[in-house]
Formats: sequence, structure tokens, C-alpha cells
Amino acid sequence: MSLPLNTEVRMLKGVGPQRAELLAKRGIYTFEDLLACLPFRYEDRIHFSAIKDVRPGVTYTIRAQVASGSAVQSMRRRDSVYHLLVRDETGSLACKFFHGGYLEGRLKPGQLLVLHGKAEIDRLRPARVEMVNPQMELLSAEGADSTEVGRIVPIYEAMGTFGSRSIRRAVYMALQNLPAQIADALPAGLRERLGLPSRREALIAAHFPPAGTPLDALNEFRSPAQQRLIFEEFFLYQMSLALERRTQRKENAPAFVVREERVREALKRMLPFKPTGAQKRVLAEIAADLEKPVAMNRLLQGDVGSGKTIVALESAVIAIENKCQAALMAPTEILAVQHFLSAGRILGRAGYRVELLISGMKPEEKAAAKERIRTGEAQLVIGTHALIEDEVEFARLGLVCIDEQHRFGVLQRKRLMDKAAKLGQAPHVLVLTATPIPRTLALTLYGDLDVSVLDELPPGRTPIETRLTSEPHLNGVWEFVRGEAARGRQAYVVYPVIEESKLELKAAMEEYERLSRDVFPRLRVGLLHGRLASEEKEEVMRSFRANELQVLVATTVVEVGVDVPNATVMVIEHAERFGLSQLHQLRGRIGRGAEKSTCILVGPQRMSEEARARLETMVRTSNGFEIAETDLQLRGPGEFFGTRQHGSLGFNIANPLRDRAVLELARREAFALAEDPAQAGALQDVLRALPPQWSRRYHLARVG
Ligand code: ADP
Ligand code: MG
Repeated sequence: MSLPLNTEVRMLKGVGPQRAELLAKRGIYTFEDLLACLPFRYEDRIHFSAIKDVRPGVTYTIRAQVASGSAVQSMRRRDSVYHLLVRDETGSLACKFFHGGYLEGRLKPGQLLVLHGKAEIDRLRPARVEMVNPQMELLSAEGADSTEVGRIVPIYEAMGTFGSRSIRRAVYMALQNLPAQIADALPAGLRERLGLPSRREALIAAHFPPAGTPLDALNEFRSPAQQRLIFEEFFLYQMSLALERRTQRKENAPAFVVREERVREALKRMLPFKPTGAQKRVLAEIAADLEKPVAMNRLLQGDVGSGKTIVALESAVIAIENKCQAALMAPTEILAVQHFLSAGRILGRAGYRVELLISGMKPEEKAAAKERIRTGEAQLVIGTHALIEDEVEFARLGLVCIDEQHRFGVLQRKRLMDKAAKLGQAPHVLVLTATPIPRTLALTLYGDLDVSVLDELPPGRTPIETRLTSEPHLNGVWEFVRGEAARGRQAYVVYPVIEESKLELKAAMEEYERLSRDVFPRLRVGLLHGRLASEEKEEVMRSFRANELQVLVATTVVEVGVDVPNATVMVIEHAERFGLSQLHQLRGRIGRGAEKSTCILVGPQRMSEEARARLETMVRTSNGFEIAETDLQLRGPGEFFGTRQHGSLGFNIANPLRDRAVLELARREAFALAEDPAQAGALQDVLRALPPQWSRRYHLARVG
């Protein structure tokens, strides 16, 4: 029988209404959705290992029979440990399942099962080898179901009560009924040229690999079937980026005059310092884009402190000199106000009109600002998300700059761009990020952007010294802060209030009180957190900037962009709770002047080896790219980008880090195809015709 891919999963035997509901919660409604859940691991169940050969430190797959089993109440934990003894023709093996109370009464002597896990030396009886928390699958009574043994078997991530074995059965049935022809989004010519299997073949082989497929290749996602599916995922995503870029290219953006004497003079006049070589190079790249009647779409990457702001302001001057408005959007009010102040200083001196727009402003101030934006009187508008509110109208928006782009979603960038589109022209777009994104990920996320890199710090900076210490040594840390304050310097003390939850916030506030009362009674200490009202935040930042406060106790609100060159100490408590990139950002708040700066990471007294190794990375290097790569490897892309963009990186099978080479190939192919007018149209149709789930899965929301 043949069942199309849009058949509902509840048509499958073994998927009742309850399971169908469970699956629906995970976005799995049809065969298509189910088949998209690929195995995360494969087991060789043709060649089982014999128990007599088991050695410590090695991972095995064993088929055995239950000999005996019992749960033992653990003394320390509330839960119990389940002890299981299994046996095959060659010997017996002990297994331990922590939190295994649920197994009590479920395993009967004689029952057949497959165990997969690493053998270890039994701590209490070092002569013995055991398996701790192995993965276990009960075989059906006959022990001979063709999906269970005698082949390379796919292992799936369990979905609640829907375990790997049941998922495997359901997938098997869906594949049994797969129609002879199924839609394939990869053009046949491309597939042939790259030697990729069809989608149908790939789905079958990725779930139930044919005999002889090397197990290693499967477990590393290198089999042809898996590679094809990975390619497909990257290709479709890159395709949507490429098509979007093509549409943008067609849109006419204002072509700015840059080379004229007047503009050059204006740029020279505004610069408060000599630009670095990198700043000059990057401005030239931007200027070349701005001269074309095609919208610029450029990502400016530069490590913290590399001086991105001034490049954005120079670009704004070019726009303004060409009778257009420029907008600069920042992720926090603190940062927006800071930009407003420095832009006001730099551009205001040259007679340009800079406007601030943040939600914390008084209604009448806000209304007045919006009016000046609407009439075009405001030339550079700096603000937060408030800028993309519906009522904000620009007279002639020609350039959009987005600072700390990684804090915004793709859609927010788009909404600001749309403010200009209403006038029949696309704005030039410059996005800045201090989170140095590894190149592969930059391509994945911003495949539609050109990239410029500021790879040089302004001169005269003394490298920051980073130290790792632990709570018992805090007194020494405070002593150091007092010393720096005595020399006229300032310090940040940061607490990990990440979600700004009430409890965490309370802890930070209590620390602030303790510090100002007991630890630094003679210093002026301020407190800054996200829950303060706008004016309060501004006031605290103003007094810190003016050196009226020597110590600023803060949450991560100071993470991005804050620029106070006189601050030379950054103390980060509970440093182990932060991601490395976040620590790097925080550390970037100091070392902005000529004075030597010190970053002190405070961990708990007893720290895991892993946490220590992570924090040692910070001590070892100040290279943001290296730190970002390490962070990414340790924590995965979701964590790396914070929750905000989690969804946009949620690939199904592809992993931008592991599958770098495929990503780059897919990008080249997709962009080449999109450039080809004969093919692009057809592809756009293919993308449009894909089932809606695909758009979700492959982030195609922006196509057509
Ligand atoms: P980021 O790239 O982290 O946004 P900023 O734009 O905030 O960095 O710049 C960091 C500091 O370096 C600021 O105080 C800025 O005024 C200063 N700066 C930027 N460029 C130069 C330069 N070419 N020479 C000297 N100081 C510079
Ligand atoms: Mg910045």
C-alpha cells in the first residue's frame, strides 16, 4: 500500500489518540514530520559483543537475558538504584541504574534485551566490570522483530512515553508505505552533479541503513543519506537567503555621493581621533556599497572595543550629507542613551541634529521626537525597539544601523528596513556585532549579508589581565578594588541576574547593600539593573561616567556596549554561570583607556573540572573569535545566541559546526542557482510549493 507523506500519524498502528496528541505537541502531525525525526545514533545489532570480552573503558552493544534484578534504596538519595544482572552464552554482567526505581517489577528473568553502554570498573569490587546507566531496549517476546535485531538499528530520542523502539516501529511502517515518487526540493541536475541520493532513498537509508553501511560514518552523520539530508536543509535555508538578497538587489536604494570634497571634509571634521587601519578599510567597503543604487546589507564584526560605533557614525554622516536620515538601533536603553550622548558630542559639534527615541521617555517628549523624525528635522535617530513601533514615521530613511545585532531577531531588522520601503526605496543596512560569530555561523545566520571585519584595536590599549579566583578569596579582590579606586579608577561588580528574576535580583540588591555598607564604606557605590526606570538608569550611568561613583554593582545590563574608559576593574561573581562569550563581552567594558585593566572572575570554592577549564579559556586568551568558537563547541548554538534566536538556529539534522563543509557547499550552490534567472524562478516556485511544515523547519518564512 502506498500512503502519501501528508498522511496523519494517527493512521499508524501503535499511534493512538494519546500518542498522536503527544506528537502534535512536538509539531509532528504527518508521516513527513515523523520521518524528519532522524535517529541520533545507530547500533550494530548484527554483531553483538560477547560478555566475556567486555573490558572497562569500552562501549559495547550486548544482547542478553535478564538473570535477576532488584531495586535498592539509596542511602543518600531519595530515589533507589536498580541492580540488574544479565547473562549471555559467554558470561554474566552487572548493571546499575541510578534513579532506577521505576524498573522494579518490570524486568522478568529470561526476558531478552539489548544493552548499550560503556563498561566501567566496579568501584566497590575493583576486580569486576559493570555498566552504569546503559541504554536498554527490551526485545519483543520472540526477540526477532526485523526492526530490532539483525541489522544496524536506528536509535531515536524518546518523546515522553513514546520510546525509541515505538518510534522505530512507527517510522518503519511509514517507510513501508512510502509512495514510489515523493517530492524532492533539490533540482535533479544539482543532485546528479553532486552525486546525492534522491530524497526517498535518503530517508529510507537514514532511518534504516542498508547492510554494510559503516557504523562510524552513520554515528558521525557522514553516510551519503545523512549528508544529502543535511545538504538539503542548508540548501533550502541558503536558498531563501539568496532569493531575499536578489529581491533586495532589485529594490532601488538611494545612491550616495561619497567621493565629493564636501562629504570627505564632513567626515574628516567629525572624527575625534585618527581612525585605525581597519576602520579606514571598513569605511571604504561601506562607502563602496553606499555609492551603488542597490541596498547595502553589511555585517560589521569587530571584537569588543574595536571601535565600531565611530564607523556607524561616519556612515550616518554620509547618509545625512546626501539628504537622508539615518537610524541607529541599540538593544538596551543604557546603550541607546550612551550612543545618543557620544553621537551628540561628535555630530552635534558639526551641526548635525541627533534625536533620541526610547520607550522610557515622557509621552510629550516622545511625541515631539516623533514629529521631528517625521518632518526630517531629526537627521540621526538613535533608539531602542521603540524605533520600530508602528507610529514612527521617517521623512527619508536612507541608512539603518543596528548595534549588537545578535540581540535582535531577523524580523526586527526587517521592520526597521520597512520604514524606508514605504517611500519606495530600500534603505542601506549596516548591522554591528561585538559577539564575534564564527564564520560558518555568520554564514548560516546572516547568509544574506556581506561581512566586514574590524580586526585591529585602537592604539594605546594595555592588554587586560584576567585572573581566576574563588569566593574564599573575595577579601583580596575587594582590597584590590579599593586600591584602584584610591588611584582614581572605577570598578564594575557584576552579578549573574540573567533573566532578571525576582529572586536573583534580590540577591544582587542585597550584595549591593552589603558592599556599600560593609566592604566599601568609604567609596561611592551605585546599583544598576534592568528593572530600574529609564531615568534612574540614566542617572546611575551618568554619575558612573562622571566618576561620581567608584563602584558600579550591576547585572548583565552593562554587558553590551557600555563605554567608560576610566573603569579598569571588572569583578564577575559566579562567573561559572555565564557563557564565555558573555564573559568576554563583560570583560570588554574595561581596557578601553590607556590604563592597565584587570578582570577578576570569581568562581565557587569547589568548581568542577569542566567549569574550571572553561574559565581558564578566559585567562588564556582575549581573542573573541577563539572564545566564541570554544563557547559554541561547549554549549551549542542555542545557548550561544541566547534564547532570542534559538529558533532560527534550530536545524533538524544539520549542525553548522560539525557540517561546516556541507554548509559552505550548500551556500555556494544555492547562491549560484539564485543568480541564474532561468533557475531561480523555478526554485522559488518549488520553495513556495513546499508543505507549510517545511517552511517552519527550514526557516523559509521569508520566501514569497
Ligand atoms: P565597540 O566596537 O566595542 O562598539 P566602541 O565603538 O565603543 O567599541 O569604541 C571603544 C572605545 O574606543 C571608545 O571609547 C571609542 O571612542 C574609542 N575609539 C574608537 N576608535 C578609536 C580610534 N581610532 N582611536 C582611538 N580611540 C578610538
Ligand atoms: Mg559597541
